[in-house]
Order: sequence, then structure tokens, then C-alpha cells
Amino acid sequence: MEKQHFHNSEAHLDGPLFGNALEILIESAKLINCDPNVLERLKKPRRCITVSIPVRMDDYTVRVFTGYRVQYNATLGPFKGGIRYHQNVDLPEVVGLAALMTFKNSVLGLPLGGAKGGVCVDPSKISRTEKQNLTRRYASEISHFIGPTKDIPAPDVGTDPQTMAWMMDTYSQEQGGYSQPGVVTGKPVEIGGTAGRNHATGLGVVFVAEKAYEKCKMEMSGSTIVVQGFGNVGSFAALFAHQRGAKIIAVSDVSGGIYNGEGFDIPDVIEYVKTHKQVKGYPKSSPITNEELLELPCDALFPCALEGQIDTHNAEKIKAKIIVEGANGPVSNAATRILHKRGIFIAPDVIANGGGVIVSYFEWVQDIMSFFWDEDEINDRLKTIITKAFDKGWAVHQEKNVDMRSAAMAVAVQRLEKAMLLRGLYPR
Ligand code: GLU
Repeated sequence: MEKQHFHNSEAHLDGPLFGNALEILIESAKLINCDPNVLERLKKPRRCITVSIPVRMDDYTVRVFTGYRVQYNATLGPFKGGIRYHQNVDLPEVVGLAALMTFKNSVLGLPLGGAKGGVCVDPSKISRTEKQNLTRRYASEISHFIGPTKDIPAPDVGTDPQTMAWMMDTYSQEQGGYSQPGVVTGKPVEIGGTAGRNHATGLGVVFVAEKAYEKCKMEMSGSTIVVQGFGNVGSFAALFAHQRGAKIIAVSDVSGGIYNGEGFDIPDVIEYVKTHKQVKGYPKSSPITNEELLELPCDALFPCALEGQIDTHNAEKIKAKIIVEGANGPVSNAATRILHKRGIFIAPDVIANGGGVIVSYFEWVQDIMSFFWDEDEINDRLKTIITKAFDKGWAVHQEKNVDMRSAAMAVAVQRLEKAMLLRGLYPR
């Protein structure tokens, strides 16, 4: 990852993701003449919680993992954001992701603040029992800080509906002994989850891609698309684009990438991954590295894996016409500037991957009402909200002649600024 030129005054929070978020925050604040006092407050996380998580492993030894929950901003509503299990999780990364959640929820117009959690662990290297023990103790350690009206976690990289079920159960057992489904979203439907949450981020990516195609006067049907990451976001984004007639010519995961110039039968690749746990080795494909995959000639590139994938070392080599950020922070600010100059349109993460948290919001609302909607209604409402956010960003992009990331951030910061000024500073 490239060296950041931005330095936070608090060195322990310094990281590329948060550095990028702060830089773009400052730039977009200028665009809207943001109140300087508001900007000062937006540069800092409200609260960073670090916990030790002792876990009884299958061999009866105890290992102590480190977990975080960063509550960035709660001006617009309860803190909201996912929980990541990954071996590279550290406090600066979680702070960066929590900042992005704040701006994402704001630009999407949701009544939610921003937060993120994470545990430094490789989930592929622990057993199911160990994962359950870890999740329950982590949930217990942060249980005083979360709750249906306070802070509502959800899945992210390395966590899934089962993880949320364990979190919800632990919280419910500890806080009163009755079911409190509204404490987390992304739960299985049987225990208060919502229809359509599992595929929501991928579907949102494709709704946003359709808008981007329309603005670039291109057609999705018959176009070529490259998808990096084949987890919960990438696999569904590939599937929905495939259903719309796009040719998905390359996909990848941690095992590497696969290429087929004719386009993949995505439902078949999904079936293959269910049994083989990786895309590598899929028949009728040639192997390709993740680096090569990003640089393939194609109409659209969906980076749906992790942050820091496109920066100054490869921005000049990208050949896609449109980039839709399914992941959080896959393209650095420096790369965004290069790509923008080269006429490549980037639909930024805070809008493009907003489908997940939008449907999380629906899940939370349904849990509070104890009244559930059907999947068509969820998908329709998702489309309405994400399209509106895109249109708002697009208007600023046109009016101020800035890239779409700065435009989306300007919309986000403006909404936060208004709300923060109305609420004022406590005590004063
Ligand atoms: N982890 C997802 C994200 O980065 C979803 C968060 C949520 O649903 O709260 O947006």
C-alpha cells in the first residue's frame, strides 16, 4: 500500500484507510464550506473500545484475541456498522471503516450513525466451536456499549448470519434473558432476520452499476465485467450482473483468479465454490493472479474484496471504463485522481456498497415493529434509496465538476453538518 501523505495528529490511529477518509473529508468539507468546528469534530472517532477476548480452544488451551468496536459518530442515529474477522484487523483499520460507515449512512439518508468492529483472527484457521466461543466472549465484552437503540452490529468480511445469531443470543441472555433481535442485523430469517439481506450488498452494487452504465451511455447486457472477491458481495454482484446479460469474464478470491473471455456461467461457479471452497481449479477457465485480474480490459470492474487494491502503483494500468466499489476503500484517493483524469468513472464505496446497510436498516425497523415485509418490497425499497443517493452524488459531481467520491462525501458531510449544528455542542 502506498505511503500516505496525510498524518493524523494521533499516531496510534494512523493508517492508509483512515488517512484516505480524512483527506477526502477535508476536501469535501471545503466544497460545501463546512463549518470548521463541525469539521474538527468529524475528524475524530467518538469512542474506540479495545477488548481482550480469551477463548478456550479445542485443545483446551486458552488463546487471547484482540477485538475492537469503534463508535465514530452518532449524530444521525444509533451507531451502525459491521464486524470484521480477519488476521490484519487493527485499530487504525477499524477506525477507517467506522469513519466510512458514518459517511455511508449519511449519504444514504439513513437515520443511523457510523461504527465498525473487528477481531484480529483468521476465521479460516479456527473451528466452528472456537468461532462461537470467540464471538460470544467478544459480544459479552462489548455488550455494555451496544444495543437496539445504541449500536447495532452486522456482518462484514469473515462474519455471517450464524455469527450474528450467536451475538444476538449472547446479548439477549446477558441483558434481561429475553430475545432482543434488534441488537444486530444480518441475522438468519428464523430469528428476526429480513428477507433479502444476504444478497443485498451485491444487488445494490448492480443497481449502482446500472446507473453508472446509464450515465456513461453504456449497456450492461453484453458488456464485460471483472469481479474481484467472490464472497458475500462479489458472488451476488456477479450473479445479478450475469442475470442482466453481462459477461463476467474473470472472478477471484484469496486462492487466486479465473478467466474465461466468453463469460462464466455464474450459478455454476457458485455451485463449484460451495463444494471446493475456492474459485481456483474451476473447469473451462485459465488461472490469473489478482493483480492481472484488476488490469484486464473490460467495461466494468467491481472490486469486492478488501481495501487498498488500486493505488498509484497500478492506477495507470487499469483498463475498465467503470469501477463500482463493492468493497470499502478499494481505490485510494491518489488512484481516484489518476483514474478520474483518465475518464474512468468510479462509483464510490459509500454509495456502491450501501445495499448491505440499507437492508440492515430495514431489518432493524422490522425487528422494532415485529412486522415483516416480503422480499419484493425489500428489493424495491433498496433500489429507491440507493438510486436516490446516486442521483444526489451525481448532481454534485456535475455541478462542482469533481469526481464522484468527493461528490458523495460532500453530500454526506453536508447532512452531518446540518444535524450537528442543530444539535449543538454539549455542554456548549
Ligand atoms: N459491513 C457492511 C458495510 O460495510 C454492512 C454494515 C451494516 O449492515 O451495518 O457496509
